[in-house]
Amino acid sequence: MVSHTREPAPAAVRAYIHSEDLFKIYKTEELEVVALRGLDLQVERGEMMAIVGASGSGKSTLLNILAGLDTPSAGKIFVGARDLLTTTDDDLVRYRRQEVGFVWQQTGRNLIPYLTSQQNVEVPMILEGATRKQARRRAEHLLEQVGLLPKRRNRPEQLSGGEQQRVAIAVALSNDPPLLLADEPTGELDSQTADEVFSVFRQLNEETGVTIVIVTHDRSITQRVDRVVAMRDGRTSTELVRHMAFSRGQGEVIEEFAVVDRSGRLQIPREMVDALGIGSRARLDLSEDHVEVRPEHPPESDGPRWKRR
Ligand code: ADP
Ligand code: MG
Repeated sequence: MVSHTREPAPAAVRAYIHSEDLFKIYKTEELEVVALRGLDLQVERGEMMAIVGASGSGKSTLLNILAGLDTPSAGKIFVGARDLLTTTDDDLVRYRRQEVGFVWQQTGRNLIPYLTSQQNVEVPMILEGATRKQARRRAEHLLEQVGLLPKRRNRPEQLSGGEQQRVAIAVALSNDPPLLLADEPTGELDSQTADEVFSVFRQLNEETGVTIVIVTHDRSITQRVDRVVAMRDGRTSTELVRHMAFSRGQGEVIEEFAVVDRSGRLQIPREMVDALGIGSRARLDLSEDHVEVRPEHPPESDGPRWKRR
């Protein structure tokens, strides 16, 4: 008998979020846009990580797929035991309601304008069948966690932008999802307010163990997360990892790595490609403990490349 089912890696050995060679193609009448082209990403349960990258690099596409708001075209993507490529529409609705929380950049998109902070946090719970009392208790607890219990009776227009985003985080966590996603949640905030919002994410991550993925342009996020993954052209390209280097007596250091996918592909950062004049081919040489990458045509020895001609 021929089996047509794909064989995913067993859940036990996969990371919590596991994406492999993921593609998303948007088709309109005139053109096709490849928004994700072979993206690999692993996120461990309980991790708080950030995704950065130029506009158009595919960050929102990835986040929308993780949120169950959009479906991938090909490849693999799992969240826990769930296969987001084959999940049925009914299952996706359940997933969006119970298993993932989402915070948008536009403060106005996260909250219902004519409801108070507390009512905003209660609504998703009541829709899921909680009693008024249960919803009120949990809403108060969540508002306390994000520091907004004193403003529980304020409507969104009576809150600052940063406060609205903190309420939005409480709304996203109302049904206690294991995964929290945020797409440029501080894009409309000044840097100090942004930092307050990031610190709420960090505190919730540490206190509740919720896994958090934040897309941002804000470079200061590096100080707040375990790992920053950069995207370029629909793929992950580099990773910044923060760790303690006790042995070298340096305390905390941030190291940058190139991502190597399962086929051994890596992206050479644009600055290095430009600096060495690497075209469509490069020479590779294996040394004892590293690989050397050189341009196909070595620059002549009469001075730097930019002075020749
Ligand atoms: P980012 O969030 O990094 O700015 P996006 O994921 O929004 O990037 O977009 C990636 C690419 O996909 C862009 O070229 C964008 O124009 C295209 N794209 C995104 N959404 C759609 C859509 N619904 N239809 C067609 N093209 C889209
Ligand atoms: Mg975006």
